[in-house]
Formats: sequence, C-alpha cells, structure tokens
Amino acid sequence: LFSEVPQAAPVAVFKLTQDFNNDQFPNKVNLGVGAYRTDEGQPWVLPVVKKVEKIIVHDDRLNHEYLPILGLPEFRSSASKIVLGDNSPAILENRVGAVQCLGGTGALKIGAEFLRRFYNGSNNTKTPIYVSAPTWENHNAVFSSAGFEDVRPYRYWDAEKRGLDLAGFLGDLESCPEHSVFVLHACAHNPTGTDPTQEQWKCHFKQDIILRKLFAFFDSAYQGFASGSLEKDAWAVRYFVSSGFEMFCAQSFSKNFGLYNERVGNLTVVARDADNLKRVLSQMEKVVRITWSNPPSQGARIVTITLTSPELFSEWQENVKTMANRVLLMRSQLKAKLQALGTPGTWDHITDQIGMFSFTGLNPKQVEYLVKEKHIYLMASGRINMCGLTTKNIDYVAESIHEAVTK
Ligand code: PLP
Repeated sequence: LFSEVPQAAPVAVFKLTQDFNNDQFPNKVNLGVGAYRTDEGQPWVLPVVKKVEKIIVHDDRLNHEYLPILGLPEFRSSASKIVLGDNSPAILENRVGAVQCLGGTGALKIGAEFLRRFYNGSNNTKTPIYVSAPTWENHNAVFSSAGFEDVRPYRYWDAEKRGLDLAGFLGDLESCPEHSVFVLHACAHNPTGTDPTQEQWKCHFKQDIILRKLFAFFDSAYQGFASGSLEKDAWAVRYFVSSGFEMFCAQSFSKNFGLYNERVGNLTVVARDADNLKRVLSQMEKVVRITWSNPPSQGARIVTITLTSPELFSEWQENVKTMANRVLLMRSQLKAKLQALGTPGTWDHITDQIGMFSFTGLNPKQVEYLVKEKHIYLMASGRINMCGLTTKNIDYVAESIHEAVTK
C-alpha cells in the first residue's frame, strides 16, 4: 500500500540538531536551533514558569476535562491584551476575539484555513499570499497546505546592504493584486533579524495597505525578545489596529515563555465590529474542531496565571529581559571580536539586527566550512541563533568565522 510513498526531505533545522548531537567533537557549537540557551549552553526553564507550575500542581480545583474548542477564555483575552495593549481601542469596542492554538504554527494554520474558506466573501484558493523573502520556512507550507495556490515572496532582504530592501518591499506592496494577504513579522524578523523602523511603517506601508485593500496577517513569535520590551515589540501590530484595519495576529509563547513543547499559541482576531467577530469565531470553532478538536491546558494555564497576576507578570518581564539582554551581549561581543580580528567586511549588521537570529551574510561555502571543518552548526542561509553563543565558545566561533571568510 505504501510502496510508492516518496521519502520526504528532513526539516533542515531539526536535521542540523541531529547532526550536531551525533558529532563527537568536544567543542562543537549549535547555532541552528531556534530556542533560547543559557550561557552554559543549556535550555532555560523560566523561574516564573517553575513557580507557576507549582501553583498549578497544588490547585485542587483544576482537572483534566476538555477545554472549550476555542480554548481557555482567560488565556485568549490575556494573550490578546499582551499584543494589542490593555487599552486597545479595538478591545474596548468589543471587536477583538481569539482562538487558543497549538503554538504560533497552530495559530497560522487556523488563520490560513479560515481565510481560504471565508476571506473576502468566498471560498478562494487564488488569493495571493505574500510572505517575505526570506521568511521562516513554514510560512510557505502552512498557507499552501491550507489550499492557497499562489504563495509568493515579497522583497524584504537586501543581501548586499545587509538590511531591509525598502524599495523592493514597497514596490511589491504597490504592484500586488488588490485584497492580497501579507504575512508580516511583528518583530525580530526570522531569519534576518531586521525589522522596518516605526517611521517606515508609518510613512510607507499604511497607505499602500489601504490603497490595495490588503489584509495583514501578523506573526508575533518573539514579543519581548527583540527589545526586551513587550510594548516596543508590539508597536507595529498596535499601530495597524489604531489605524482601523481588520487583521489577524498569530502569537507564539514558545520563545518568550520558553514553553516550546507545551504548544501555546493564540490567534488574535481584530474584526470590524462585534457582529463580524462573532461569526468569524463561530467558523474558526469549526476549523479547530476538525483539526485538534480541543487545545491542551498546561501551557495556557501557565501563561494565563502569569499574565493575570501583577507580581508574576513583572517577574516574567524580568525573565524575558534576561534572555533579551544575553542576546544583546552576544551580539556586541561577536561584532567586537570579528572587528578585532580584522575579519573582512562590515559587521555592524550583527548589532543592528534584533531578536534571536542574525543573518550573518556568510555564503553557503563559508557555512559548509564552518559545519564540516569547525563543527559549528548553522543554517545554510547563514542564519545563526545568537543564543547558541556563550562566553566560552564565542572566541572559537569568531576565529572560525574569520578563517571561513579569509581562507
Ligand atoms: N513564526 C515564526 C516567525 C517563528 O520563527 C516560529 C518558530 O520558530 C513560529 C512562528 C512558530 O512558533 P511555535 O513553535 O510556537 O509554533
């Protein structure tokens, strides 16, 4: 029955980790994985998460009954508030709702499935879905597997300048068909670590989105990670809401809570009015029912308890800052070391970029040299996870990059 099934290619980032695990070299370094690591190179359970887990264990009122299909109500509302702000005009107007999802991926999936069925009034597969070039690889697959036949790149990264291709981005916004859907990274763009500035969002993008009647689907996987501030990292999303747009925002709590394997995500829906919202959520409930039926509770409880207690909330913010600051430190040290070594090229982009990742500009040959000769594992695109750097391995990594560039 299955003799004709073709072998699927492994997922690059997980394959890289497998190769890293199999490598016996003592000073090997994993700069591939998209997860936070401490300066000891270890995963970090946030102290606030440990504390809340204890609260949950001792709460006899909790059980393992099914959650509602759309998820824990307090989770959905507190998660939406984190991204839109407590005083969001849309929340005050009762036109914000949400679906608890399995991670940010699940939120993108439910949003994509809903849009394919109902966007712009019809069951459509032809609507162009624009994703940035480059982007997190799953964006393409999530939208095409939901039935969209036209997932296209919009220009984003200028490799020569090692920065945003503003003219290209604007050109694609201006020339795209009306009612296209744009998947926008809310902050800490993966993989480039390069975001539009507030001025660029304000001066350029808004007008095009109005003129072309585009739909913005934000992906917020790194809130708090980019700047250490929840507000700053949600600026673009809040700006769109304050401009009156209907939009979706897929939120992931994998990175900012370190809850990677609990699969905690939220799809925030900003609708035109309360009546639209009600009907949209009723259809999303149907999509969830045939997808995972009911979401898991542990991660959502952890996030809800944290977000709704002032003390735990400020402790969480401190934990997020700890992670963001370590990334900033690694950025400045890596740049300083490459500059001290006289490595050819400019390295300002290492500190200009934000969030977990850096798009180093290393070419595939240089990447191959680092992986094969130096046991330093990074994505073929040259993307590195800054958290894979530690005060112990940073000299080795900088010297190895220097060798890769100069050899
Ligand atoms: N969106 C982006 C841009 C990401 O980088 C990631 C994870 O790496 C996700 C979404 C998915 O997050 P989750 O693990 O919560 O599904």
